[in-house]
Amino acid sequence: MFQKKHRIAFISVDGDPAVEIGQEEAGGQNVYVRQVGYALAQQGWQVDMFTRRSSPEQAAIVQHSSNCRTIRLKAGPAEFIGRDNLFDYLPEFIEEFQQFQQREGFWYSLIHSNYWLSSWVGMELKKLQPLIQVHTYHSLGAVKYRSISDVPLIATQRLAVEQACLETVDRVVATSPQEQKDMQILVSAKGQIEMIPCGTDIDKFGGIQRSAAREKLGIAQDAKMVLYVGRFDRRKGIETLVRAIAKSSLRGEANLQLVIGGGSRPGQSDGIERDRIASIVAELGLEDCTTFSGRLDDNILPFYYAAADVCVVPSHYEPFGLVTIEAMASKTPVVASNVGGLQFTVVPEITGLLAPPKDEVAFAAAIDRILLNPAWRDQLGEAARQRTEIAFSWYSVASRLTQLYTHLLAQTAPTPKSRPRIAA
Ligand code: UDP
Repeated sequence: MFQKKHRIAFISVDGDPAVEIGQEEAGGQNVYVRQVGYALAQQGWQVDMFTRRSSPEQAAIVQHSSNCRTIRLKAGPAEFIGRDNLFDYLPEFIEEFQQFQQREGFWYSLIHSNYWLSSWVGMELKKLQPLIQVHTYHSLGAVKYRSISDVPLIATQRLAVEQACLETVDRVVATSPQEQKDMQILVSAKGQIEMIPCGTDIDKFGGIQRSAAREKLGIAQDAKMVLYVGRFDRRKGIETLVRAIAKSSLRGEANLQLVIGGGSRPGQSDGIERDRIASIVAELGLEDCTTFSGRLDDNILPFYYAAADVCVVPSHYEPFGLVTIEAMASKTPVVASNVGGLQFTVVPEITGLLAPPKDEVAFAAAIDRILLNPAWRDQLGEAARQRTEIAFSWYSVASRLTQLYTHLLAQTAPTPKSRPRIAA
């Protein structure tokens, strides 16, 4: 029976759940907040998802359903600001959040923060009002900074906040056992962690036949189609995939096709990475077999996954990797780097294959094994679908979060006697 539950706040300062996904800094975190928010609302929670306003045209409130909305607060100028430059605007976000609560005459007793910036917001709010804080990192500086050469100035701050968060919040949600281990080894041995994976829409993906998808997209039925979906970011390792295609034993065959899906904006960091990848494609003489499809929206994305023979996730670091389970839900096997959450979602030889990151030879071999054996491809795809249905639906993620919130609220429900302090 539908039972009305608490009103809860998701805080995702940098990941707006109501924007278009698939371009600069709008990816898995935005999808996670949106889908978990929707699913929790369906399970009876009143869900308010707070983010910052990044353009003057954006509505201050987006009502998704009767009990789920996105609320955009002012935090710095209403323009796109990269994550690494947002920290200084967070006090303003906190002030706005408190004013919002005051206007509504309601004080949230549970917030679920997302990414380290929002964890800081949550921890500061906790100093001002009684609050239960649940946190999902989405990315750990302690791991990420090991895989990049240009460590940003904000790194020290981020690492300190991530540690304070793990050690003090009521519960940290790790989205894979690998992320949990990374937290315990690289961030702090203290802290209360619960592993609840990310999910995917198992109804949206998986209902389209490969042949029908190809017909719709104008892709030849005999094509050997290799798909990448995601943001243009060096950490995603698209270069490894392109170099692997150059080394494939199928190279030169007319039916080999590489499709690279994802949006980019000229001159921005994703546009620069896209141009860099395009120049590697040209340098390797792969222009004839490579297509940059641009951002794939929700309506067309399921067709791309269904059309592909294999989806490749060549990331250098991936705390979870939603693309992997979207492809798996679509019955398409995945070749992924054996890092982070990809080691959890992909079961090697059963639902796909793993290869060392940046190892184009190993990626080429893995991709070829699947392309050259369609019967095995189908077998891997069926097992991938099964694994997704069992372990990765948004419904099951929301059910597990519901259990966690209910438990925390029952155990530590704050009973505010006085109104919260307002930030100076
Ligand atoms: N995505 C999309 N259209 C695109 C590219 C990506 O909708 O053109 C979505 C993709 O389906 C997935 C998300 O963006 O849901 C990427 O999430 P993932 O966890 O794989 O990577 P992140 O962006 O968090 O690094």
